[in-house]
Amino acid sequence: MHQELLKRAYDPIDFQQKGHQLIDDLTLHLTDKLEEKSDKAIHWIAPEDELDFWKEFLKNGDERELFQEITKRTTYVHHPHYIGHQVCAPAPITGLTGLISSLLNNGTAVYEMGMSSNAIERVVTDFICTKIGYNENSGGFLTSGGTLANLTALLSARKAILKEDVWMDGTTQKLGIMVSEEAHYCVDRAARIMGLGNQGIIKIPVTPGFQMNTDLLEEKYTEAKQKGIEIFAIVGSAPSTATGIFDNLKAIAHFASKAKIWFHVDGAHGGAGIFSKKYRNTLSGIEQADSVVIDGHKMMMMPAITTALLFKNRLHSNVTFSQQADYLLTESEHEDWYNSGKRTFECTKTMMGIHWFTLLKVYGDELFEANVTRLYDMGIAFSQIIQSDSHFELAVAPMSNIVCFRYLEEGLDTSQLNSLNAKIRQTLLEDGEFYIVQTKLRGIQYMRVTVMNPFTNTTHFVTLLNKIKAIAQSI
Ligand SMILES: *Cc1c(COP(=O)(O)O)cnc(C)c1O
Repeated sequence: MHQELLKRAYDPIDFQQKGHQLIDDLTLHLTDKLEEKSDKAIHWIAPEDELDFWKEFLKNGDERELFQEITKRTTYVHHPHYIGHQVCAPAPITGLTGLISSLLNNGTAVYEMGMSSNAIERVVTDFICTKIGYNENSGGFLTSGGTLANLTALLSARKAILKEDVWMDGTTQKLGIMVSEEAHYCVDRAARIMGLGNQGIIKIPVTPGFQMNTDLLEEKYTEAKQKGIEIFAIVGSAPSTATGIFDNLKAIAHFASKAKIWFHVDGAHGGAGIFSKKYRNTLSGIEQADSVVIDGHKMMMMPAITTALLFKNRLHSNVTFSQQADYLLTESEHEDWYNSGKRTFECTKTMMGIHWFTLLKVYGDELFEANVTRLYDMGIAFSQIIQSDSHFELAVAPMSNIVCFRYLEEGLDTSQLNSLNAKIRQTLLEDGEFYIVQTKLRGIQYMRVTVMNPFTNTTHFVTLLNKIKAIAQSI
C-alpha cells in the first residue's frame, strides 16, 4: 500500500503529463498578462477569505484545478499594470531553470552535491565582480536574499576590522555600524542579530533629498567613539527602498577609508545598474566597496530568491564563519571555492546560479542593461507626467524606477491629504486594475510605484493617474 503510494508520487509519466499541461497553462497566463488580454493586475481577496478558500480546497477542491487556482490567486507580476513592490516579472526561461533546480536538487553547500551549480556560481560571481570594477582578488557567492546577504557581509566586516575575534570569543565591547536612517529595515535587523542593540546602530540623518547626509559622518563617528562604541562598518544604500534614492557612495567610501572601517553597499535593488551604461553613474564609487549585495530577483529578471554577495577581497568571505584566527594565510593557499557552504550562512540552497548563467548564455549581459535602463527611464518618465499635472506632487525627483507621489486637493490639510491618499491606494488595491503600494515619508502619506515590467509604458501611467483622479472625486 505505502509502496504503491510512493510509486505514484514518483511516476515519470504522470510528471510528464502534468508538466506539459502546466507549461500550456502558464503560457496562456503569460500571454494573457503580458498582452493585457485581461485588465487586472490583482484580484484582491481579503486574507480571511483566502484562508477559508484554501482550507476548503484541501478538503473538497478538485486536484485537477490546483495549479490553475494557485496561478489565478496571485498578484500578476507579468501584467504591465503591476507597478508595486520591487519584485520582478521573471524572464520566462528562468521559470524553466527554476524547474531544473527543483527537480535536480543539486544546489548544496558541498561540491559533490552540486558540481555544475557550484562551478556555475563561480563563473557568474566572477563576472559580476568584473562589472563592479573589482580586480582579480575579488570574488563572491550567491545566497538566499538581500536580507541574509547584508547580515553575512556585516559578519565578514566585523571579522575583518576588529582585532578581537567576536565569532570565537564573544565580546562585552560596545560595537556599532553606521547607516542611513532611510536604509532597508533588514540592515537594522542584522545589526540587532549581531548584538549591537539600539546604541550600536548609528543612524545617519538624510538630506532633504533623502540621501545619507555625508557631511554628518565625522561628527556621528566621533560622538559614538566618545560613548565607547567601536564602529566597524558603514552601509550605503543603492538605492534606499522607500524612495529609490542612491547614497553618495564615493563620499562614503572616502570616509570609510579614512576611518579604516568596512564599506558595504546594499545594492539589493539598484546594484544591477552596473550593467547600464546610462545609469552606471548612480553607483559611482561602488568599486571601492569592501562588499556589495545585488538581488537577482529584483532588477535582474530572476525568480525569488537569489542574491549575489561580492567581496573586493574574497579572502574575507572565506573566513566569515571560520573558527581559525590565523585564517588569511592558511586559507589562501588552498581556497576551496567549490564548497560554497563554507562562505554562506545557509547550508542547503537552490541551484540559483543557473538563473544568472542561463540569462547570460542565452541573451548576454545586454539583457540586464536593457532591463535596468528601460525601467529607470520609465520611472523618470512617470515622474515627468506627475510634475506636469497640478493634481499631483512628487516626494522627491526619482533616481531610479521607484517613484513616490501623492494626490493633492485644495483646502485639505496634511492629515486630510494623508487619509485621502491612503483611501485612494486602498480603493486601487481592491479594484485591482493597477497594483501600486504606499509609504510614509516625514509624516506624509505617499503612493509608491516601482516600474518592474519592461512593457509598462507612459500610456499606462496616464491611465493610472486618470483613474486616481476619478477615485479621489468619488471619495
Ligand atoms: C529588497 C531589499 C532588501 C531585502 O532583500 P531581500 O532579497 O528581499 O531579502 C535589502 N535592501 C534593499 C535596499 C532592498 O531594496
